Amino acid sequence: MVGGEGCTLGVVLPDYAVHDGAIGLDWYAVDPNLRFLLDRHLPEAADRTFAEDHVARYGELVGGPIAERAEITDKHGPVLSRYDQWGREVDEIVHHPTYLESKADLVKAGFVGLPAHAGRDVPAVVTASLAYLVCQAETAIYCGLGMTAGAASVVERHAPDAVREEFFRRLTSLDPDEAWEGGMFLTERQGGSDVGANTTRAVPDGAEWRLYGDKHFCSNVDAEVFIVLARPEGAPEGTRGLATFIVPRVLLDGSTNGFRIKRLKPKLGTKAVPTAEVTLDGARAWLAGDTSGAREASAPEDGDRVSRSPSEPTHKGGLNRMMELVNGSRFGIALMGLGIHRRSFLEAAIYAAHREQWGQRIDRYPLVRETLVDLLVELEAGMALTYECASASRGMFGDDDEGRLLRRILVPLAKVRATREAIGAASQALEMFGGNGYMEDWPMARQLRDAQCHTIWEGTENICCLDVRRAMRNDNAHTALIARVEAALDAANGEKVLAETVDAVAATLDEARQAIAHLETADTDLQLLHARRFTHLLADLAEGALLLDEAAWAMGRDGDARKAVVAGRFARRRLAPPRARGILDDDRTAIDLFDPLVRYGPIEPADAA
Ligand SMILES: Cc1cc2nc3c(=O)[nH]c(=O)nc-3n(C[C@H](O)[C@H](O)[C@H](O)COP(=O)(O)OP(=O)(O)OC[C@H]3O[C@@H](n4cnc5c(N)ncnc54)[C@H](O)[C@@H]3O)c2cc1C
Repeated sequence: MVGGEGCTLGVVLPDYAVHDGAIGLDWYAVDPNLRFLLDRHLPEAADRTFAEDHVARYGELVGGPIAERAEITDKHGPVLSRYDQWGREVDEIVHHPTYLESKADLVKAGFVGLPAHAGRDVPAVVTASLAYLVCQAETAIYCGLGMTAGAASVVERHAPDAVREEFFRRLTSLDPDEAWEGGMFLTERQGGSDVGANTTRAVPDGAEWRLYGDKHFCSNVDAEVFIVLARPEGAPEGTRGLATFIVPRVLLDGSTNGFRIKRLKPKLGTKAVPTAEVTLDGARAWLAGDTSGAREASAPEDGDRVSRSPSEPTHKGGLNRMMELVNGSRFGIALMGLGIHRRSFLEAAIYAAHREQWGQRIDRYPLVRETLVDLLVELEAGMALTYECASASRGMFGDDDEGRLLRRILVPLAKVRATREAIGAASQALEMFGGNGYMEDWPMARQLRDAQCHTIWEGTENICCLDVRRAMRNDNAHTALIARVEAALDAANGEKVLAETVDAVAATLDEARQAIAHLETADTDLQLLHARRFTHLLADLAEGALLLDEAAWAMGRDGDARKAVVAGRFARRRLAPPRARGILDDDRTAIDLFDPLVRYGPIEPADAA
């Protein structure tokens, strides 16, 4: 049985053959897995209805005009206009109208301002779903608007009274004419992953500060409010001496604020959002909190970019303010990866349903089927991990402390996994288009260019792997993950169709426990050497367990074994690969269950075995 009260699975079965491409479709309607996840993570009817009202509205907006314009913006990126006609330096960024129109549409739709205007608690899975949809069109536009949401939250909590209300109101405004945007400046030429090497100085100026220094990567550079890392004069070297400041680009009276754009970066992708090198020359700034933290914080010993744990002793100013922002944006970047992954799948599925070779659609060929199925399996695995991360702090599976701890370790796992997978997904989908895929007038070239950015910004893959290590050493966050995996195993226990996957997840949990015990006593060099391997082991474990959990839930609610097939395929790919790469097993899943898998149709348990 598929259906039942509140059930949205199976309402729409996308038929890829009737579409020409992804642009112009309702991206919510063609994504039953997104609705499934909202059902799963929003058990309260009022939350689910709220989600439906807001997320569904984005399907047509994002799949239509936002996606259409993104293709144009990419070919007409922002330009720096340094001087006006009088020869005065203005450092203005000129955008193509398509970018401005899309931003205005998203501001009006409440993309940034929803939590401030909804009049109720907005579940994180709702804002995550909006971001996931927008990122299918253009991760660059989400970069700017996502940082705006982050800056608004820093302003709301830490700005001085004199500016808080006005800045927050503007940053969360639903009126494009008065809405402001935000950005964050950490990176300097010498201080990338190692932000402790930063040299931008903060000089006290009464109750305020003046900032002096160069920032090397400043995205959304024409935003109005920046959250900036700088070192108060007299503060110690390294991360210990850093503090977080709120810096307007233009002052409330309209004058520029000691802010000079040196040049726009010539980027490979994410072209819509301007990324610049900036000089701060006496920019007026407010400390986010007070300076005591800049002297109290202790430096990480292994050169991690600002990956401080939220549960380390609270510092009143310092790096922790910026860390709140960085953790939020790392989660957002996982959503960028998922957005590109989903778009890649959708474009590839549509193309494969149209393109004919040797007299038949290429999606009739086994290798093509397998590529599409595995694109989808990995996507659903990444979604399971990232949506768990979104709902973790709501205490759905335990108390709030446990949820926070779970989120602590799931954020870097999700960022590493989703951004790395997106590059492979975009590349596979591009190849599905044959030679056309390599051309800039087809949709995949931009997605591949954009995808490559996301493993780097907000902390490279290596740095996020070191953050996983820190989450374990400083917070014991892995205990929350292990508890969650055990809960998933319990939920799936006894479900015949899941038995093989339960065994694979349990065996991987055992391996992870052994790895943790081994690393606890290993030399530091070896701990660091294994950090990436270990992160991927935990990501595999988490994704396998969470897919299992979803599969058990779908069986219980709908009697549908489709998710069980997805979980089983994931387990065979990642957790317990069969002998001789599966050749001896003659597993026909990708051929025989292709339609219900890629079109999200129901699968009988008997067919899933
Ligand atoms: C398009 C784009 C936009 C950006 N926008 C912004 C922005 O708006 N604001 C901002 O502050 N920054 C921004 N960045 C900067 C970005 O966050 C940094 O590039 C990133 O953190 C890496 O720093 P880095 O470039 O100095 O590389 P490095 O730190 O020099 O790293 C080089 C390599 O060394 C590795 N590495 C470094 N240290 C270690 C270690 N201890 N162990 C193992 N490996 C290590 C890294 O993983 C990487 O592969 C942007 C970057 C890009 C590409």
